[in-house]
Amino acid sequence: MKKIIIAGPCAAESKEQVLATLKEATLRRIDFVRLSLWKPRTKPGFDGLGDRGINLLLEAARTGINPATEVLLPDQAKKVIYTFFSAFENMRLLLWIGSRNQNHYIQREIARVVAIDKRVFLMVKNQPWESQEHWEGIINHVLEGGIDKNNLILCHRGFLPNGVNPHHYRNVPNFEMSMKMKEKFGLPIIFDPSHTGGNVVNVMKVARQAAEYDFDGMIIEVHPDPSNALTDAKQQLTWKQFDRLQKLR
Ligand code: PEP
Ligand code: MN
Repeated sequence: MKKIIIAGPCAAESKEQVLATLKEATLRRIDFVRLSLWKPRTKPGFDGLGDRGINLLLEAARTGINPATEVLLPDQAKKVIYTFFSAFENMRLLLWIGSRNQNHYIQREIARVVAIDKRVFLMVKNQPWESQEHWEGIINHVLEGGIDKNNLILCHRGFLPNGVNPHHYRNVPNFEMSMKMKEKFGLPIIFDPSHTGGNVVNVMKVARQAAEYDFDGMIIEVHPDPSNALTDAKQQLTWKQFDRLQKLR
């Protein structure tokens, strides 16, 4: 199976930032550009452009790249799907349920909304704390929402450190558990080196470690001007660093 590559900034921040992203993304082989519109945040502050950013997903489609965004609520999924496919019938859209969104009513409802349209893919991340049972539970809740397995992708983004963390990662990967999940559910699983590594050096390091395992691709944060990013500034790569990583893996 061809590796799935999802790359782009942590958050869509402005039209200028998105256009700068698309200019670089179109030069590379990328399946989806990440342009997240709704951001779960620890503290109040910038939490995404929300509805105002939906037209930026259309900008991506205009350049021929399929967009991807996290959604926190089923209504957000509905709005994005409706607006997007009213403008671009033949494109694909990827929505995802993030690590912090651990309300199974919401998980199931988002899956229900996505299940209606075969052009929409749903990616589901693991929860923050380490538990295979909970991770399996998320996937089973989403499957209860009726989503087709062909439209579902798993994503590992590490677990909160709890003891051993020799590389000082932001989140500690469990590659063995990831491979068990892949096998148990018969679903593709991609790796997120950005939220695992937490800074550029560690993103590079953990992406190379992950390359030893049978992941089906990756989602990675790349920003046109990482040091001025509104979210996750430390872990976002430049496009040059992204190219280097692709050569190293
Ligand atoms: C994200 O991918 O934008 C994100 C918030 O990551 P996570 O849900 O893994 O914390
Ligand atoms: Mn991020």
